[in-house]
Amino acid sequence: MATAHSHAFQRALRGRTQRRHTGADTFWSWRALMYRLAERLGPEDLFHIARFAYAELALSGVTAVGEFHYLHHDKNGVPYASRTELAEAVIRAAEEVGIRLCLIRTAYMRGGPDAPLAPAQRRFADPSVDRVLRDVEQLRADHNAAATISVGVAAHSVRAASIEAIRTLAAYAAEQDLPFHMHVCEQRRELEDCLAEHGVTPVALLAEHGVLSPRFVGVHATHLAGTEIAALGQAGAYVCLCRTTERDLGDGLPPVSDLMRAGARLCVGVDSHAGENPFEEIRAVEMDERSRLETRHTVAEAPVLLDAATRAGYAAIGMADRWQEDRVWLDRDDPSLAGIPPGLASDAILFGATPRAVRRVEVAGRVIVEDGRHAAWEVILEGYLKTMRGLDTGR
Ligand SMILES: [Zn+2]
Repeated sequence: MATAHSHAFQRALRGRTQRRHTGADTFWSWRALMYRLAERLGPEDLFHIARFAYAELALSGVTAVGEFHYLHHDKNGVPYASRTELAEAVIRAAEEVGIRLCLIRTAYMRGGPDAPLAPAQRRFADPSVDRVLRDVEQLRADHNAAATISVGVAAHSVRAASIEAIRTLAAYAAEQDLPFHMHVCEQRRELEDCLAEHGVTPVALLAEHGVLSPRFVGVHATHLAGTEIAALGQAGAYVCLCRTTERDLGDGLPPVSDLMRAGARLCVGVDSHAGENPFEEIRAVEMDERSRLETRHTVAEAPVLLDAATRAGYAAIGMADRWQEDRVWLDRDDPSLAGIPPGLASDAILFGATPRAVRRVEVAGRVIVEDGRHAAWEVILEGYLKTMRGLDTGR
């Protein structure tokens, strides 16, 4: 299984943002908490948190991750001596776990159309597209021989990059045959800001400027006009839904069946690591659509949904030719699967399996989970707990 959209460092927030702390808790108040974490992480902290998050994903049956990486510089926003140090921390984490990783180097250039960068955003930001692309080139050169690591390009959102920057990045991705990812239309405020700056909503803007294509992966795609749904479909673009995070953040319900009918392709992502259950991630796409439409059997049946969680996810992160190299074994006698006839296996897995059923995981010929255990779990857990204690006590 592939999770095409992840921010591994946000794993450290799980269970820590669920108490009411302001009068109106929204995506934006959650983001303030996330920024507080992002401001404090050093390269080793990031490594330990990412390694733990990827190990948990591997134990749950995930074999490939698209890491939408936008934490680039030191706590003052100054580039590290090696500009890609934080990207390298994430890559090292994935390599130690044995999971595939597409490092999606993300451009973040501004706080908003007229907004200065918030303190935490200084760590994300680069002054020019040229800088961003030089890092992409560096990462590609450093990992071009790696069996399980690849590189992609992203613009964080229409909020965090100008349309000129987005066009340049998308053109580079097309020229180099790399995946191009963006957050789109997650929150209504993003639509209002985009309307104020450009006179159109985000996907309409991207369509107008030729950014949509089969390599485009629009993450969330929650609040869309009919013409935007049609534009994503006509382009054959991917829509990456992250339902467990979107639910957690109160993002709203995306028009999934309309997107599918229009021709958009579907994949899923763990995003904020609010939960680490890839079965639930894809199951929720169908279940939440049932709630939205008040009917059953909405998006697709299990084989099509499983394809979105596996093959399509690999393709969305530029690993289309790799997905059949990796394998996950499930225990047919696990309580969540026992007694199901073989003809209904995909239905039982999609609608019933839990990560507990995952017994063995093999990536690029290496067995990384055996008997439901990761070989380095104790070390990984200890590193994570020590890091979290450090963050909690301010060291
Ligand atoms: Zn995201």
